[in-house]
Amino acid sequence: MTTDADVIIAGAGPAGTMAAYELARQGVSVLILEKSQFPRYKVCGAGLTHKILQEIPFDVSPVFETTVNTVIFSRGFRDVFTRTSAEPLIYCTMRDRFDAFLLSKAVEAGARVLHGIKVDDVRQEKEFAEVITRTGSFRSRLVIGADGASSAVARSAGLRENIMPGLAWEAEVTAGPAVVKAYSQSIFLDWGSFPGGYAWLFPKADHFSIGVGGPASLSKGMMDYYRRFVDYLAAGSWQDESRMNNEYRILNNEFRNKNSGIDILNTISLKSWPIPVRVKRSRFHEGRVMVAGDAGGLTDPLTGEGIYYAVRSGRLAAEACFKYLGSTNPSLDSYTQVVNDELMSELIEANRIKYLFNTAPVKIHSFVRDSDRAWRAFGKILRGERWYADVRLGFGKWKFLWSLGCRVSKWVSDYREKRFGDVMM
Ligand SMILES: Cc1cc2nc3c(=O)[nH]c(=O)nc-3n(C[C@H](O)[C@H](O)[C@H](O)COP(=O)(O)OP(=O)(O)OC[C@H]3O[C@@H](n4cnc5c(N)ncnc54)[C@H](O)[C@@H]3O)c2cc1C
Repeated sequence: MTTDADVIIAGAGPAGTMAAYELARQGVSVLILEKSQFPRYKVCGAGLTHKILQEIPFDVSPVFETTVNTVIFSRGFRDVFTRTSAEPLIYCTMRDRFDAFLLSKAVEAGARVLHGIKVDDVRQEKEFAEVITRTGSFRSRLVIGADGASSAVARSAGLRENIMPGLAWEAEVTAGPAVVKAYSQSIFLDWGSFPGGYAWLFPKADHFSIGVGGPASLSKGMMDYYRRFVDYLAAGSWQDESRMNNEYRILNNEFRNKNSGIDILNTISLKSWPIPVRVKRSRFHEGRVMVAGDAGGLTDPLTGEGIYYAVRSGRLAAEACFKYLGSTNPSLDSYTQVVNDELMSELIEANRIKYLFNTAPVKIHSFVRDSDRAWRAFGKILRGERWYADVRLGFGKWKFLWSLGCRVSKWVSDYREKRFGDVMM
């Protein structure tokens, strides 16, 4: 039987390119089918947490635009405070550059890529899989669906269960150069007023990415929240100088004389995009087909972070393919198992923490403001030095209290989301 490649990967986002890179490096023939022409814009804050960098086996610093070590927090546009970390928390990039960079590494390693080819369906036969596109079909022994939030591969393999739909709106926004410079090391987060969601400002080289996200069930209220966030940033009343460090205060004063806030000059693009969140352990493969990254619903329900999970699941999928291709008794069961054990157990904990946060946003906001321990834990989680699962383990023999608290808070959180949704109707 002739095939076009041992492994066909649908999608050249971080999940697809990392899988391709790993496979090509091990001498496996890989073909990526990508519907867009690269470089292409992708709606994303493109904040790279330190743990992502630990997971990528080459240096991605050439595409960093800013390095963030300060977070400005507000709770429903009130109670603003600033926290600074000695170590970088997040590196911001733009996804057209980041994704093109990862793809170039996969191609250098030996992967082939066809742009402008949209995968519509995958049919599984006894000895191969057939990947159907408008311009023809391709055969391979295995298929990795890394085709993002609306994955055609996941749909055709029946791997979409247990996914809770999230949604985000984001705009690329230009501001005066002094303002962009002043906030080049800071992100702004407003949380606690939109149940299960939050608003953010991420600094880029010459502009800001400003967005809001939350459960898709509350999508009706999201645009209003976004507008209020932008108006609030522009008004500038949030500049709580009392808690800013010196360097920050000087920069802030520099432009404050000219502007009362973030002087938004131009919205380049405003787009919405789904954020699929898998809430239960599930199957991540069916026959010869696996799903990775957003196609598998592997995003953090608390923060919306998905690049880490895309990169990690892409690498795990590559490992599973490699084992499968070298085995006399091949199976992809180990992929579903490792994704559930490693990634889903973390995402399930993140979901529990989200419920707690929805239940007591005022307390958690004050806790991060007043407790150095809480702030350090926040930084450690972003840097991948601690995991959500460590929070539960920290309860030791009182773990049952944690589970009980989470159960109650899920109930309160669901109720609050529903009430918020009813008010919007
Ligand atoms: C507004 C917003 C902000 C975000 N901010 C962050 C953040 O700051 N940090 C973070 O870690 N995560 C963030 N995320 C999540 C992050 O964008 C995703 O989790 C991540 O992009 C998933 O990577 P992926 O490779 O699985 O999918 P994608 O990056 O979506 O890549 C999928 C690729 O597949 C291609 N494709 C789609 N369909 C097909 C098809 N049928 N055939 C062929 N190709 C196809 C697409 O063109 C695309 O290139 C954000 C998400 C949103 C919506």
